[in-house]
Amino acid sequence: MSLLVTGTVAFDAIETPFGKTDKIIGGAATYVSLAASYFAKEVGLIGVVGDDFPQSYIDFLASKGINTAGLQIKQGEKSFFWSGRYFNDMNSRETLITELNVLADFDPIVPAGMDAPDYLMLGNLAPVVQSTLIKRLSKRPKLIAMDTMNFWMDVALDDLKETLKMVDVLTINDEEARQLSGEYSLKKASRVIRAMGPKYLIIKKGEHGALLFYEEQVFFAPAMLLEDVFDPTGAGDTFAGGFIGWLAMTDNISFDNMKRAIIYGSAMASFCVEKFGTENIINIDEKLLQERVQAFRELSYVDMLS
Ligand code: AMP
Repeated sequence: MSLLVTGTVAFDAIETPFGKTDKIIGGAATYVSLAASYFAKEVGLIGVVGDDFPQSYIDFLASKGINTAGLQIKQGEKSFFWSGRYFNDMNSRETLITELNVLADFDPIVPAGMDAPDYLMLGNLAPVVQSTLIKRLSKRPKLIAMDTMNFWMDVALDDLKETLKMVDVLTINDEEARQLSGEYSLKKASRVIRAMGPKYLIIKKGEHGALLFYEEQVFFAPAMLLEDVFDPTGAGDTFAGGFIGWLAMTDNISFDNMKRAIIYGSAMASFCVEKFGTENIINIDEKLLQERVQAFRELSYVDMLS
């Protein structure tokens, strides 16, 4: 099934307790589309970069089967730039710089032939751009998933609430869930947020796994226990890409299949954090991926003898 992805395509400068990078390639849509490309056959990308963005990386995305016809290149302008610093626990971070640049007036134009995707993943981006993209599609996708972050809650809360009314799945981290709902308990927060629109809510808890809420049901998946975590940047987006990619590949949006999608998303994210930026997800070996999925089963499987 076809999948359309939007979000930032960006330069990031990252600082972790293990090192520091100059501008490297990042952006929500970069991570989402790369991760999804391991599953979904047809992945299309809608985004914007400046003329400082390397054509070789766009060609690389295309070599992964990602349709980049919807990636606008603005001559004479600069790409979105984000800089962040992780604290010692690697689970929390502070944003040092957010330069919107080309994103400030991004108009998400959908090229012909890409306007009727079966699945849509709205990666982190201005909420008004996310909703504009939904309105420009010629038919409603089977499932619309969306990611966002505290930055947009701070600067565009009303737009964010409007967009939330239009989506089926929201993925956010625990801190953002608390900010958006005003509730400390994640159970209460999940009810408040689902009343805003999305039927499904995924709360990411970094190294502590992820929760999926739907009606009265809750599913919890742990995160992979890793020897080394170098850089958590993009883990949430890689998770989202694996999640939606699996759903698009299997074309099944039952709650049980969403649980599997969460495991695939978590496995993909575990690769992401082992190296800086997108380095470790550009060439994931299928056998290694299956080993990680198997490791997830073993991590929390208990035979209760009942
Ligand atoms: P994650 O670690 O999954 O939250 O995603 C990190 C990625 O999100 C980085 O590659 C950034 O370029 C991108 N990013 C950071 N801030 C924003 C923002 N305000 N809107 C959209 N993307 C952002």
